[in-house]
Formats: sequence, structure tokens, C-alpha cells
Amino acid sequence: MSQFDYDLFVIGGGSGGVRSARVAASLGKKVAIAEEYRFGGTCVIRGCVPKKLFVYASQFHEHFEDATGYGWTVGETRFDWPSLIAAKDREIARLEGLYRKGLDNAGVEILETRAELTGPHSVRLVKSGKQVTAERIVVAVGGAANPHASLPGHELCISSNEAFHLEQLPRSILIAGGGYIAVEFANIFHGLGVDTTLIYRGAEILSRFDHDMRRGLHEAMEAKGIRILCHDHIQKVTKSAAGNLDVDTINNGRLVVEQVMLALGRDPNTAGLGLEAAGVETNDRGAIVVDAYSRTNVPSIFALGDVTDRVQLTPVAIHEAMCFIETQYRNNPTSPDHDLIATAVFSQPEIGTVGLSEEAAAKKFEEIEVYRAQFRPMKATLSGRAEKMIMKLIVNAADRKVVGAHILGHDAGEMAQLLGITLKAGCTKDDFDRTMAVHPTAAEELVTMYAPSYRVRNGERI
Ligand code: NDP
Repeated sequence: MSQFDYDLFVIGGGSGGVRSARVAASLGKKVAIAEEYRFGGTCVIRGCVPKKLFVYASQFHEHFEDATGYGWTVGETRFDWPSLIAAKDREIARLEGLYRKGLDNAGVEILETRAELTGPHSVRLVKSGKQVTAERIVVAVGGAANPHASLPGHELCISSNEAFHLEQLPRSILIAGGGYIAVEFANIFHGLGVDTTLIYRGAEILSRFDHDMRRGLHEAMEAKGIRILCHDHIQKVTKSAAGNLDVDTINNGRLVVEQVMLALGRDPNTAGLGLEAAGVETNDRGAIVVDAYSRTNVPSIFALGDVTDRVQLTPVAIHEAMCFIETQYRNNPTSPDHDLIATAVFSQPEIGTVGLSEEAAAKKFEEIEVYRAQFRPMKATLSGRAEKMIMKLIVNAADRKVVGAHILGHDAGEMAQLLGITLKAGCTKDDFDRTMAVHPTAAEELVTMYAPSYRVRNGERI
């Protein structure tokens, strides 16, 4: 008989928490999971999933326009925001139900309450005030949008959380930030007919991506009609008598918009979690510090996903959860592999990427070869849409390994998933060259770029 109430107690019902609880329970462990809001976490409730549904919604006006070139006559069209919100909410409720069912079927005890640590093996259930104990505790409470509390008027601004539930679609919006969320939502709002401006403090959006992707997306967004203000940031937001928001910027004067959305990164959700009581160490960003096996400095407490601020992506949290299970319950020590993570930005056009950008590869290797293709996708020929795709392969000249692959254009995210396998497998450019093309596709460019567009040696383009 165990001295604890549970073998495993999980705090947080998001991607990492649900996966670790469900799999541990299916292995016969006595498991409870506590969630204070809704099961599914950021990804399902207010992140990746509803965002992608919004992306689809925002693309229809271009589909209607493109149809003409293919002989279709599309009648009058109209978009209804409340209908989209209601449909999205139904889908999210369905998915949340599946998450709960999965936990239930595995025998996990579901606790609808906030839970806080009180010691290395103990947790307080806030709703009932009850204390429970567990041999191991997993903290997987995720992150929250950075509220930018030092910005005067920040309370007048929304984050992506509210963007999913706005009662009305605004006529105009200013989005602050140059990362995934800012870029994706700028395209969503613009696609739905909102007058959209993006303001970013740096020289170019998407700071950690390959420069061709950043520049190519910037140009494509501007060509659609999205204003992008780089080298600038918001100084102050005030509400005008007319009900609009007056936004004072450093370099672009005063902008008047209906909504301001801040997308300035996400912070670990650790405040008030009892980490001090349990003796769990955090870093200067408030993230829980873990070792290579997701274990905190307190041996019985583990942390997974965004709360650890390693790589803030759903599949990473799930992978960390599976590694935790392997290590703790399958006697197979496995540390999460954070190398070569394929990822997509669901901008319009999309970016799909894996591995090193040209700039990062040029710093790391003495000589790299850059294979680059820019072309008009076939669909755009008859539609007449002015759009281009960019594909890039970055190759380490010394061993011919493909160390980076970057795509801007339709289905780039889908392609990045498959490219992720090739880079993970250590494929060389010669492997790409001897792969037959699938014709006619856009992806065939990836295996038909035979000669390098240029080389970079010791940081110099030659
Ligand atoms: P990101 O880290 O992607 O971007 C944050 C942006 O805010 C950067 O452009 C950053 O600028 C800027 N910024 C940060 N602080 C300030 C400040 N004080 N003043 C002005 N600008 C500031 O975060 P997001 O919020 O966009 O997304 C959060 C995380 O969620 C991402 O890291 C990503 O991992 C994940 N996500 C993934 C998606 C996907 O996979 N498709 C979609 C959405 C989110 P700078 O670049 O100069 O630092």
C-alpha cells in the first residue's frame, strides 16, 4: 500500500499534462489531474486549433476571387463573425469532450479545480481546500500572454485570448509584435476584412526565421494590404470620446483604431502556484528550471511544456510528456530531443521550416551551399493572383548534409512535416537529388534544385 494518495498528480490539463496523466494511468498508475479552466489547454481552447479554424475562414475571400479565373461565377458573398465564433466553439467543445473521455477511459481522476503545490509530495485543491499527496507531481500549467503591464493603456488592449471571443469583428486593428501570433492574426483579421496594421520593434518580422522567409512574407502581406510598421512600438493607448483607441507610437505618430491586440510573447504560468512552498526553482522569466529529464530541483516534482519555457510548441510538450513516461514508468531513461523541430507559421502565405536559417548555418559552418527557388505556383496562373513561393535548402558543404529547409507558400506547413523527417534522418543533398519528383506539385522544387544558387564561406557570400 502506497503512503501517497496517488502515484502521479498532474497540475494542468493541457497537451503535456493530459498526455502524461492518460499514459501513466493506462500503465496502471493511480493518477489525478487538476485543471482550473477547460481541458485541452492553450492549444485546443485558445491557441493552435481555433487559430487554424480562423485561418481557414479568412482564406475564403481569396478562394472566391480565384474561382473566376477557373470559369466560376461566384455570387454575392457575406461573412458573419458570430456564425464563425459559434461553429468554432462547437468544435472546441467537441475536442474538449474527447480529451476528458480519453482521461476517463484511462481511469484518471479528473479534478475541476485549481491546484497549488504545498510541498515536495503535496498539493492543495483550491476549490475544496483539501490536501492530497502523490509520489510524483507533474506541473504542466503552460503560459499566458505577456500583458505588457508597463504600457500605459495596456488594459484597453486584447490578447489572442480575447480575439477568439470578440462580440463583433472590429473595423480596424493594430497588432503589436512580430512573432507567430502577431503575424498569424494580422493575416486572419485582414482576410476577414478588418483594416489591419502590425507594429514591430525590430527591423523585420519573425526574428528567428530565415531572412528570405521574413522578407518574402513581409512583402506578401503588404501586397495584400496589411500595413507593417517596423522599428516602432506603442508608447501609450487611450480611449477617445468617439470610443476608438488612440495609439501613440514612437515613429508613426498617433494611430486611431478600434482594437489593439498585444502579441508580445507568452510567460510561464507560475505565479501563485506554491513553487516556493515546495522549494521548486524558477529562472528570471518565472519558468520552472528542469534537467534533461524534465525533473525540477525537487526530485519528486517534474515540469513539462510551456511552463518550462524550453520550446513553446504543443508537439514539444507532448514529446516531453512521453519522455517523462518512458523515464519514470517504463524504466527507459529518455530525455526530450529539442533538435530539428519542424514548425509552421500559419500566415498567408504560410511558412514551413526546419533546421537552421541561412544566417545561423553561415555562422556555424565554414561553408554552406544555398539552393533557392522562387516561382509562381501553378494555381496562381489561371487565377491571376500575384503570389510567389520561395523554397530554400541550406547545405553544409563539408558533408553535404541538408541542415535547413525553408518554404514560403501554400501548404508549407504540410511540407515542413515531411522535410522534418529527412533532416532528422540526416539526409544529404545527394539524397534529395536522387529522389524522383512528384509532378506537378510545388514540392517537386525541393528535389530539382541541382545547382547551388550561391555559397557562403566564412560568412561571406560567394
Ligand atoms: P513570439 O516569441 O513568437 O514573438 C513575440 C514577439 O513580441 C516578438 O516579435 C518580440 O520581438 C516581440 N516583443 C516581445 N516583447 C516585446 C516588448 N516588450 N515590446 C515590443 N515587442 C516585444 O511570441 P508570440 O506571442 O507570437 O507566441 C508565443 C509562442 O507561442 C511562440 O513562441 C510560439 O512558440 C507559440 N506559437 C506557435 C504557433 C505555431 O506553431 N504556428 C502559433 C502561435 C504561437 P523580438 O523578435 O524583437 O524579440
